[in-house]
Parts: sequence; structure tokens; C-alpha cells
Amino acid sequence: MNIFMLAAMFAVGLTMLPADTPTANFGPSNPFYSPSTLPFQAPPFDKIKDTDYQPAIEAGMAEQLKEMQAIADNPQPPTFENTLIPMEKSGQLLDRATAPFFLVTGADTNPTLQKARAAIAPKIAAHSDAIRLNDKLFQRVKAIYNQRQSLKLDPESLRLVEVEYDKFVHAGANLSEADKTQLKKLNEQIATLSNDFSTKLLEATKEGAYVTTEKGALAGFSDARLAAAAEAAKERKVEGYLIPLQNTTQQPDLVSLTNRSTREALFNNSWNRAERGDANDTRDTIARIAQLRAQKAKLLGYPNFAAWKLVDQMAKTPEAALKFMDELVPPATAKAASEAQDIQGVIDAQKGGFKVQPWDWDFYAEQVRKAKYDLDEEQVKPYFELNNVLQNGVFYAANLLYGITFKERTDIPVYAQGVRVFEVFNADGSSLALFYCDYFKRDNKQGGAWMYSFVTQSKLMGLKPVVGNVANFAAPAAGEPALITSDDVKTMFHEFGHALHGMFANSEYPSLSGTATARDFVEFPSQFNEHWATHPSVFQHYARHNKTGAPMPADLAAKIKNAETFNKGYDMTELLAAAQLDMQWHDLSATAPLQNPDTFETDALHKTHLFIRYVPPRYRSSYFSHIWGTGYAAGYYAYLWTQMLDDDAYQWFVEHGGLTRANGDRFRQMVLSRGNTEDLAKMYEAWRGAPPSIQPMLKFRGLLPPSASK
Ligand SMILES: [Zn+2]
Repeated sequence: MNIFMLAAMFAVGLTMLPADTPTANFGPSNPFYSPSTLPFQAPPFDKIKDTDYQPAIEAGMAEQLKEMQAIADNPQPPTFENTLIPMEKSGQLLDRATAPFFLVTGADTNPTLQKARAAIAPKIAAHSDAIRLNDKLFQRVKAIYNQRQSLKLDPESLRLVEVEYDKFVHAGANLSEADKTQLKKLNEQIATLSNDFSTKLLEATKEGAYVTTEKGALAGFSDARLAAAAEAAKERKVEGYLIPLQNTTQQPDLVSLTNRSTREALFNNSWNRAERGDANDTRDTIARIAQLRAQKAKLLGYPNFAAWKLVDQMAKTPEAALKFMDELVPPATAKAASEAQDIQGVIDAQKGGFKVQPWDWDFYAEQVRKAKYDLDEEQVKPYFELNNVLQNGVFYAANLLYGITFKERTDIPVYAQGVRVFEVFNADGSSLALFYCDYFKRDNKQGGAWMYSFVTQSKLMGLKPVVGNVANFAAPAAGEPALITSDDVKTMFHEFGHALHGMFANSEYPSLSGTATARDFVEFPSQFNEHWATHPSVFQHYARHNKTGAPMPADLAAKIKNAETFNKGYDMTELLAAAQLDMQWHDLSATAPLQNPDTFETDALHKTHLFIRYVPPRYRSSYFSHIWGTGYAAGYYAYLWTQMLDDDAYQWFVEHGGLTRANGDRFRQMVLSRGNTEDLAKMYEAWRGAPPSIQPMLKFRGLLPPSASK
């Protein structure tokens, strides 16, 4: 999961509503009324009631609009000091209230909070539009932008001018009034269609569930899984057993279902879920969205939607993203082909008498995995006790690399029972940040894992970072140790990588601070941090038996390490296929005719050499919610792009002496502390000494041909 999740949710199906005037029930008794008096201005959860958020957020929006209008109406000629600085300082009440609100509505929600969120979501989107389309304000920013080279600004201030100007222009501020009206209309149409898509897909996915009355069809299920399928059927008031669909093409149950025709039926339910010619068929909707997006791009002066979308990303152009993906296709598909051979070998050895199909892949891949790596999670878990992994793994690695230390604080109020807070110190003893962690599953917590920020670091505002990590690990029974899986361990290192990006932030301006970077960059520090989980000196320090303290036996540790390259050809190929579909749809020009999604999809996959019988795209166009329903349009490649960055960065460490303080400090100083204060490609290159290369990515994922991997 990534930190844009909430923002993306709010980007769906919005209409333009003006922010309400401050509600009467907002006043000094509201805990958000003035800055928190707690250390680091941490949210005062001991005082905050569920009903406090909405009035504070609405008052905060009104306050910020007023602040922005005052800047716009300033009779003085525009300067950096009288325009950009007060813009950066605006919206403090809004920030104070929205940061904890977004967190609790995801991590500890209830009907009151959900209702508040439904009411607030469209207003927040409209609020940002109201600022970006304020022409008087834009004209001031533009005047400063046009004379920026003669203003003798420091590099970060210059970057702020450029980033702010680009945000306005990106939103259409430079258009004529007539074009602005046209843009608004297009935005509304796209938002409505995007909302239709999400509604249809939700229903289509529900309707696509696999149902059977034959217990035998579900051979391979454990008793518990069978009971859950019976329970799911009962809930929907159908007879027998029901397997609900997950959002991806492949379905988790395909690993265990031994009956091949059941696998095929379940797979086809997934593949065709939104293409059944009924009211929930999304094909017309997506074709129309693609067309409207191309028209929007043209209005904004771009040849296609992808070109408009990538302007503020690290890749900058669709050509750069496409070139990157094209280079990955041969090694990824070659590895997938060799994995297919292994799988076909198992099928043939069992006298299956058929060629591997997508619905067979996971079932037989699991058998290959067991035979090749023989990794049993139950054997591994006793060595991964959560608190030990946190303190002697995650924190330990950060201490070796960056010299930081951690001290638990029990005096800071938290939003839910079991949430822990640590104060983080620099090597010189100075206080750096607060770090919250909330790892266990709760019924009122949404799935996945993510990082959040309560307080964004900024020297201008005199604020130090307050950040946190949330996950959904299985909670232990009372009195039992919290033993987690090797995937969970990876998740902890991943999310802590995001946390470091937030905690090391050292920016003047809040809008350039910490994780406020492009989508094709923000997953880089987190994925990079995962590498330390299996680094020998870190691993040996935390992977110890929870009862005896004995280190994990070497053969078991080796199995974990070896299993890391398992199925990577398939994984990368299905991602590439989805990312290419996304790019091809958003590469259409405004004059292209309305597309037939089926032929378009087939053509797009053929054209990019990704039409492969046994590796379907991770999402098919008709249920690709990332690109039609949330904010990932022309952005799905970012998952692969940031994998390239994280492996390439790790390779730099390998080449420069590995896990050392000197290397860590240099990375912190040149990358992790820099947020968005300089061009991301230049920042990366300055640190790496070269642009990122795909070679380490291929090496670490086992995608190089045996002769080439040394
Ligand atoms: Zn992430």
C-alpha cells in the first residue's frame, strides 16, 4: 500500500462544491482550535472526540480560502515574501485536523467518522480546485515565476516557485476563461464516468463471485476455508459455497483448488467480470473516459493524457516510461517462460495432458516452490517476534546506517489501544521526530499497510516530523508472543522506509518536505529499505527464536533468501502488461475514435510483446480500477520504476562498502532529507553518480540469464 491511498480515494467522482462557511459549533473548546501543546505538536487524542473533526476541517477550509484571498487581494506588487511565503503558511488549522482525521478514518474508523468522511471528501477536492483556479492568486505566482531568475532566490525557494507555478498550470490556470469552462466540464464528465465505473465494477465484482453447490468442486480447500465459503454463501443468501472475487486477475484460491474445471471457471469469472453485456459492463465507460482524457490533455496543450500526467513525475515523459518498460520485456518474459517450463514439467510428470493456462499457474507454481525452496512459514515464524523484529531489526538497521536511536514514550496520547510511540534521536543526541506504530489487525481498520504523517517537517513553521506506520498483522492470542511471517517482516521494513523519508525531512517549506514527491519516486525509499531485512548482519541480529534466543538455522535462512527470486518472471510480466495497457490507453490522441476495449487491449498487448497465453495482465482494462477509478492513470508504471530505483540504489551501497554509517549519512543527506526540494532525476543522479539502470533490478530479481549474473 502506498501513502497516496487516501488522496486517491478522495479523487473519485467528485463534483465542485463550495466549502461551507465555518459551522457555528467550532470554537475554542474544539481541540483543533489552537496548535497542540503536546511535544512535537502531536495530536491530542486524549481530547479529540469523533465529532470534533468535521467542524474543524470545514472551518479550516474556510480559513485557508480567506488567507489565500487576502494574498490574492494584496495591493502590493507580488514578491516571493508576500505571496509564496504566506501561501506556505496558510491552512494550518486545516492541516492540524485533516492529518489525524485521514488516519483514524482508515485505521480506527466507526460510523460517525465514516459519515464525516463522506461529507468532507468532495469538499476537500473542491477546496483545492478553488485555490488552483483563483486567477488573481495565479497571476501573482506567475509574475514571480516569470522573473524568478533575477530574484536571487536560494535553490529551495526557486524550486518552490517552479513547483507551485507548475501546479497551477497543470490544473489549467493558464487557460482562457472559455477553455477553463470547457476544462471544468470535461473534469466533471470524467469524474462522473469514473464514479460510474467504480459503481459498476463494485457490483460486477460482487456478481462475479464463483458459486457452487458441489463440495467436490472445492477439493483442496481446508476445512476452515470451506466453512468460510459456506458462510459467504449464507451471507449472500445463495445455496452452497461462494468464493468472492479479489480485485486482481489471479485469485488467491487458485493456489489450492485441485479441480481444474473449478479453477478455469473461477478464473473466467474474474477475467470476464465486467464484460458480460449487462448493466455492470464497464467497456463503454472506459472507452469514453479515455477519449475525454485525451481531449482534456489537448485543451491543456499536450499530445495525449500520459504526456500531461507525467510532466511533474521523475520520468517526465511517456517516452521515458515506455523505453524503460520495453527494456524490461525481454528478460521478464524470458524468465516467465522458464518458470512456465518448470510448471509444465510438474504437469507432465503428473500426466496432466494439458498445456499450462493462466488458471493453472498458481496451483503448480506453489508445487514448484515447495519442491525448489521447501519453505514452511510455520517453521520460520518462531524466529520473527514482532517487537524483536522492530527493535533488533528495523530500528537496528536504521541505527547502523544513520546513527539514530529510539526511546519509547508512554506519555503521548494515542488514537487506539496498542498504538506505540517512539521518540527518535539523531546520533548527536538531538531530538529528530516522533514515530507511531500500529501493527495489528482490527475490525475497524482498512486492509494493507501504509505510512502517514501527523505533522510535516518544515523549518519555516518550526515543525519537526510526527509520522507513523499502520499494518494488519494477525494479533496473537492473549499471553502469546506476536509471531509474524517473512512477508510481515518485509512490510515493516518497507513502511519504515517511508517513515524515514518523513523523519529525515529537512526542508524549509512544508509543501516540498518529506514524502511530498512524485508517484514514481515515493515508493523508492520504502522499497530500498526492504533490502536491509535480509542483509546478513541485520538478519542475524533479529531473526532469533522467541523462546531460546537461538539464531535462525543457516539452511532455513538460506531458503528465505532463495525464495526471494521465486516467480519473479511472472510477477514482472503481469505488472508490465497492466502498466502497458495503462500507458497505451493514455497515449491516445484527442482525434482518435472511440475504442473497442477488447480489440484495443489485444492490440496493445501484441504491440508491446506482452500477449502471453499463461501470463494475463494483473488487471484487465475493464476492471483496472487504479487507472479508471483512482488516481493512477498513466501512473501504473511507477511500481516498476521505483523497483528500478530501489535496486539500483542498493547496488550503489554494494559497490561502496555496503552497510556503513558513511554510506547511510550520505544517502540521508543527498536523498532522504531532500523531499521534493530539487528535480528528482537530478537529485538521484547527483547521489548515484549516474542515471538509474535496470541491471541491478534484473540481478536482484533473478531475471538475468545465468551466464550474465555474477
Ligand atoms: Zn509503500
